[in-house]
Amino acid sequence: MTAIASNLAQVRARIHQCCQRFGRASDSVALLAVSKTCSAQTVLDAAAAGQRAFGENYVQEALDKIEQLRRWGAPDLQWHCIGPVQSNKTRWVAESFAWMHTLERSKIAQRLSEQRPAHLPPLQVCLQVNVDAGPNKSGVAPAALLALAHEVARLPRLQLRGLMCIPEPAPDFDTARATFAQAQQLLLQLQQSGLAVDTLSMGMSADLEAAIAAGSTWVRVGSAIFGARPAAAAPGCVPSLGAR
Ligand SMILES: *Cc1c(COP(=O)(O)O)cnc(C)c1O
Repeated sequence: MTAIASNLAQVRARIHQCCQRFGRASDSVALLAVSKTCSAQTVLDAAAAGQRAFGENYVQEALDKIEQLRRWGAPDLQWHCIGPVQSNKTRWVAESFAWMHTLERSKIAQRLSEQRPAHLPPLQVCLQVNVDAGPNKSGVAPAALLALAHEVARLPRLQLRGLMCIPEPAPDFDTARATFAQAQQLLLQLQQSGLAVDTLSMGMSADLEAAIAAGSTWVRVGSAIFGARPAAAAPGCVPSLGAR
């Protein structure tokens, strides 16, 4: 078993145990493997261990990996954009990704909808919400969320699925859970306003239990699967046994 396969099994066990503890169905929480800074070979190792959904922060880095994996004949993988996207890169997201978690501006939403190729299903999107109101943080302010959500929901080639958040690291479980619960409340408000949204993208390696307790449906996990990332972007994370 590769290090990655065993890490993946441990993360899946954490999700499963947490679902049991909080009375949730195990299949109500999906695992997004965050492969930023990891090599294409590392992604292939995770795919060999059954992982299909991968999250990337940098569009160009993701495109290089997607192309390499295609050349290797890797199984069909589902790519999720989880980083900020400038307007000159929206076409790449529209053409190569299944999900976009970090939508926060209407101009970007319009471009993504216009550029989504007709042969693909609508791009699945979450609005990033700045739940803990960090001054330097990305994400829509909660007060502006409802208007943006209804605008995005009207775009023909996007499917608004829900919310995403990245709160500041919390000192303990209860504090983390309370912050995630604010995103859960905001999702409820969107539902009550008539939107068919069902997704909360929240929780990372360190706080996925608190996020699941507050209703997360996608946990985005990087270092618990691939090991600690180098400070500067560099290829390769946990080397697999017999890596090429
Ligand atoms: C890097 C990253 C993750 C994964 O973080 P880990 O702590 O390594 O699990 C999740 N979400 C986003 C948006 C990230 O940038």
